[in-house]
Amino acid sequence: MYDVRSMKAEEFIDDQEILDTLAYADANKDNVEVIDRIIEKAKERKGLSHREASVLLACEMPDKIEEIYALAQQIKKDYYGNRIVMFAPLYLSNYCVNGCLYCPYHLKNKHIARKKLTQEEIVKEVTALQDMGHKRLAIEAGEDPVNNPIEYILECISTIYSIKHKNGAIRRVNVNIAATTVENYRKLKDAGIGTYILFQETYHKKSYERLHPTGPKHDYAYHTEAMDRAMEGGIDDVGLGVLFGLEMYRYEFAGLLMHAEHLEAVHGVGPHTISVPRVKRADDIDPDEFDNGISDDIFAKLCALIRISVPYTGMIISTRESQAVREKVLPLGVSQISGASRTSVGGYAEEEPEDENSAQFDVSDRRSLDEVVNWLIKLGYIPSFCTACYREGRTGDRFMSLCKNMQILNCCHPNALMTLKEYLEDYASEETYKIGMELIDRELENIPNPKVKQIAYEHIHDIAEGKRDFRF
Ligand code: SAM
Repeated sequence: MYDVRSMKAEEFIDDQEILDTLAYADANKDNVEVIDRIIEKAKERKGLSHREASVLLACEMPDKIEEIYALAQQIKKDYYGNRIVMFAPLYLSNYCVNGCLYCPYHLKNKHIARKKLTQEEIVKEVTALQDMGHKRLAIEAGEDPVNNPIEYILECISTIYSIKHKNGAIRRVNVNIAATTVENYRKLKDAGIGTYILFQETYHKKSYERLHPTGPKHDYAYHTEAMDRAMEGGIDDVGLGVLFGLEMYRYEFAGLLMHAEHLEAVHGVGPHTISVPRVKRADDIDPDEFDNGISDDIFAKLCALIRISVPYTGMIISTRESQAVREKVLPLGVSQISGASRTSVGGYAEEEPEDENSAQFDVSDRRSLDEVVNWLIKLGYIPSFCTACYREGRTGDRFMSLCKNMQILNCCHPNALMTLKEYLEDYASEETYKIGMELIDRELENIPNPKVKQIAYEHIHDIAEGKRDFRF
């Protein structure tokens, strides 16, 4: 029985409810009256239910899809402005005891090079990341209680935060590790992590069990209920995601929104972020084996619909996507992107020899961080290296209320400009510096509160003089 407030995975992600939702969507996908009513509701910025959003996903009327895209763009502008937050993944270890069919880290893959960073190697990796200009990382690891116990992850986080190289600093570490216990989530919280990210991979229980045939990840309920445990452990910024390509995207989309609704209903705060990864070619994995791949157009539609259905959530897109696809979905709602990513263990400090492949998947966007920053500026975005919110205690519903009260322009906007200024001073190429400074001059004028504007001006000036780390 479907129950959004239930703490049991199979009740808040009820299979029958998803099947009924898809049937309802099919029955209404050409019903202009219903579709218009749903779009009107989305315009109120209160989000859409999984049933309503699923109708829009099923709808194929070009004029309605255009309307959805236009609304997604407007909502993105209203709540996130033109800022795009930058981050990089850091792979700590690819030891893994699971048997995930789509992931090259799976236990039976004997020809992938197994690596686990030592603390000295982490210093090298983080120094290389700092030298590019990164301030925000997402740490990644396979699941292996012997090689990657929670103590190892905690030690890595502490090392990462301690490294201060030149003007560099990692100010926010997000964590993408396997589902764990409340006690371990509490330890992660105490270690000062930002968001805890865990992709559901697929909400379809039978497929989930087939795709994760062995290892602790096989347990659908334990995995699906992880965010509730994380929140019980005190982490109130959690990041959801589906690995698109594994199952039918319409099923996944409904499941994803039901998960968001569940978090909101039970904990009073929805997902801080939603990621939209698509399955990629990787060692020992052929994505053609998964016949549910989605086209770029469907991918864009999913991004737009996530934006209008969960208006306040951050949306993340990785270098799994090419420059062209990223360009297409940025205006539709994406708020965070990675840049210059390496998915191999130790890949930032040293180029990996070809016979030693430890990478998780092929990246499609191979540009340097400076190239990505330059490209964003030319497209009219503000690349932001801001990490202020969680450092100011604005997590969970406190972040959401900032968003809902439209205070972003007086807070996130100047923070983005100040952190971009730091990037320009310390790491940018000459050309990026020039266009970045022009952007900052223009954008300072858009800060509505005169007092905030004045302080931002002063801080930008102070950054040029060598001071760092200002925030609202
Ligand atoms: N091991 C952790 C877990 O089980 O959740 C998380 C770390 S894993 C490095 C991060 C994510 O990479 C996985 O959740 C999965 O969605 C994604 N991934 C795995 N194989 C992939 C592939 N072939 N292409 C794209 N993404 C993949």
